[in-house]
Amino acid sequence: MRIAVIGAGIAGLACADELRRHDHPVTVFDKGRGPGGRMSTRRLDTPSGQAGFDHGAQYFTARDPAFLAQVEQWETLGLVASWPAAGPDAWTGAPSMNAPARHLAASLDVRLGARIETMSRRRQERGGAAAWHLQVEQQSAQGPFDAVVVAIPSEQAATLLAAWDDDFAALARATPSRPCWTVVAAFAERLPVATDLLQHLRPIQWAARNSAKPGRSPPESWVIQADPDWSDAHLEEAPETILADLLAAFSTVAGIRLPPPLVARAHRWRYARSGSAGVAMLWNDALRLGVCGDWLLGARVECAWLSGTRLAAAILDGAGRPTNMAEP
Ligand code: FAD
Repeated sequence: MRIAVIGAGIAGLACADELRRHDHPVTVFDKGRGPGGRMSTRRLDTPSGQAGFDHGAQYFTARDPAFLAQVEQWETLGLVASWPAAGPDAWTGAPSMNAPARHLAASLDVRLGARIETMSRRRQERGGAAAWHLQVEQQSAQGPFDAVVVAIPSEQAATLLAAWDDDFAALARATPSRPCWTVVAAFAERLPVATDLLQHLRPIQWAARNSAKPGRSPPESWVIQADPDWSDAHLEEAPETILADLLAAFSTVAGIRLPPPLVARAHRWRYARSGSAGVAMLWNDALRLGVCGDWLLGARVECAWLSGTRLAAAILDGAGRPTNMAEP
């Protein structure tokens, strides 16, 4: 089967990797500039060199045996490391959060800068079975594909799915995400904050010394995330306003006077933390249309990976189960 996967986050990549291992030609499309989605790492130039920021997921846990086995394999390859500051069972990508995603993407045909606008099905020449074609923004249509996997946040999935499966689209609409305004900032000197982590100090939900995570290098860098309610209330404000507000809030909760940052940016994750539809994945056998992503199982890296691998298993199973709404 020629399979298209829309979304190169950890769910789409895990699904694509499993299908590739079983010799299915897979093409992954992502609108972003790199793989990883919400596990991505942002790099900014500063006068003291490049600063890297894990500006989405900060760490992840591994409890399911299959994911734990994957994480242990990544650890052997030096792609993840434990990060005790965030908890006894916390892992982070090494030397940056996007390392596992980059590793998975390296063995796959990943097309970046490719936003899928619509999906269509048409009969192939000489009366063959109907196949999928994907319209990429400002590019030619891609296809044919025998199956399509939609591995993107629920709100974006609902738009693509609406024309094809009412139940899937309704479930996606019924599983909204919460936003997160995030500020990343680098400094010339180490900030005199006693701890590498500040949590639950409204409006700041999380502030971490990114440069203290395993494998990171100077300059001193921080990731500061606002809580969902604050992010919601300030969703449409200008990034410059958010930047000033969150740096001021950070200064207050850290109890220090902040020096001028070498570089600082505000980033709005409109769909940061997903809801949970309570199912592992969705598969429409008649259309050969699959759906995976964190929003099916829960707002965590582990859930996204599990959703992707379980969808791949269902596809490899002979794309067996009808519309797979079984509990994980
Ligand atoms: P994504 O990573 O969102 O991947 C979807 C991909 O689809 C993206 O790369 C996007 O560019 C692409 N895409 C979307 N629409 C299209 C389209 N039309 N065409 C082509 N490509 C498209 N999890 C934890 O476990 N621990 C944490 O501490 C944690 N903290 C977080 C903090 C923040 C600020 C955020 C944003 C997330 C956090 N998470 C955390 C959640 C975790 O990052 C996600 O659950 C997980 O990464 C989701 O993976 P995914 O593959 O389902 O989706």
